Amino acid sequence: MSSMSRKEFLRNSALASLGLAPTITAAGTPRHWLQRLKGKQGRAKNIIFMVSDGMSSGTLALADLVKQRQFGQQTSWLSLYDSTGRKYHRGLMDMASLDSPVTDSAAAASSWGGGKRINNGAINMSPDGRKYKPIAEIFRDAGKKTGLVTTTRITHATPAGFASNVPDRNMEDTIAMQYLERGYDLLMGGGARHFEKESREDGKDLFAGFRAKGYSIVSEKSQLQSAGKDKLLGIFSDSHLPYTIDRKNDSDLNASVPTIAEMTKVALNRLDGLSNGFLLQVEGGRVDHGAHGNDAAALIYDQIEFDEAVKVALDYTAGRDDTLLIITTDHGNANPAVNGAGDRYSDSGAMLDNIQQFRHTNEWILSELDQNSTNSEILDRVEEATDIGITKKQAQMIRKSMNGTLTTVYEAKDSPKAVLGSVLANYLSINWLGTVHTSDYVELAALGPGIEEMDAFTRNTELFDMMVTLAGVTEYAAG
Ligand SMILES: [Zn+2]
Repeated sequence: MSSMSRKEFLRNSALASLGLAPTITAAGTPRHWLQRLKGKQGRAKNIIFMVSDGMSSGTLALADLVKQRQFGQQTSWLSLYDSTGRKYHRGLMDMASLDSPVTDSAAAASSWGGGKRINNGAINMSPDGRKYKPIAEIFRDAGKKTGLVTTTRITHATPAGFASNVPDRNMEDTIAMQYLERGYDLLMGGGARHFEKESREDGKDLFAGFRAKGYSIVSEKSQLQSAGKDKLLGIFSDSHLPYTIDRKNDSDLNASVPTIAEMTKVALNRLDGLSNGFLLQVEGGRVDHGAHGNDAAALIYDQIEFDEAVKVALDYTAGRDDTLLIITTDHGNANPAVNGAGDRYSDSGAMLDNIQQFRHTNEWILSELDQNSTNSEILDRVEEATDIGITKKQAQMIRKSMNGTLTTVYEAKDSPKAVLGSVLANYLSINWLGTVHTSDYVELAALGPGIEEMDAFTRNTELFDMMVTLAGVTEYAAG
């Protein structure tokens, strides 16, 4: 055995012993809880799948702490565990992709949407080009309605993982075309640039295509209420929707861009009451971007706003037994947390409260700065966004990170966004592990039929089997 093939052999046996083949144990039998679920086939007429993208456990806690300290209220997600008295499942989920313990959003959403672990970067396609039928197509073929709601471009990885097949997640023009061809009922988010003929590589006008297929097309929040009862395409931005805190402090954006909770409400109003039921995915997509950016205000207020959408879904499912509601995330990201600060950590709370005076994101701060910015320009810009007066030395470190002369101990943290995030950690006490996804086992909550069968530790692909079984659409999953 050559050293190479021996290594491969060891790796494969390790994978087999871990039972990483989707839903099948090393012995080749389906996992027990999925087997038990078969007796509950068809119990869930509707499925609502809510995903806060890139939400580390620390992010859930941060949003809850800030919501309590600033608004005097628990998040809806945590109050589900704490005070509502409703029956729920709570567990951890292993989100690994086929080629890494650290997944990206494309492989993660595909594991739920297509039932298979695939390589990072692909959407419902195996490394050798096999296509896995995505769950929105399965539900459509079963006569159910399908909807996707996100704060990113609607062609981004997480919604696409429920609805398309491409070898590379960056093929967003193709993903938009697949949405048109596959005829999903409701699409809301950003990403106009993948629908407009001026910006599409093939020069095709997809808005005209959707219109010809009978969709109502809206681009402003105010048009949502008057949109016809037919299919809906709501695209509210050229790229991603703005971060919550940037939107709230810009009256034009506030008037034109709906919140994720507003979009979720519209979606449920339109999909509710159908005899065959529906599948709706709702993604708080920019929580992930806030984490990548080490951007505390972006992260926390987008998570709090995602939580408002969770409330809409919890209200919708209250008192009914025909809807499976899943609330989760696809991976950790940058693993933020409040660090203990001061004598016996007594300064941490007050430092965290400094977030309440932020008017803009770190992304907003950095958008007007570059390597030619002076220390005082940096100081002023940070203060305008945060009310925090950083020191000259800190401004200088930010400036050096922008011209590439700052050296950090952990090299992945030498970028301007990481350095700004670390500088502000001296005032907020919120610090970051890095600027990328992590391998955390993620938080998973579920309500509705079938949850009593779930194991406390699940694998990503099992949610696909769970949804298809409970909705009674298994026969449409093939092909
Ligand atoms: Zn990400």
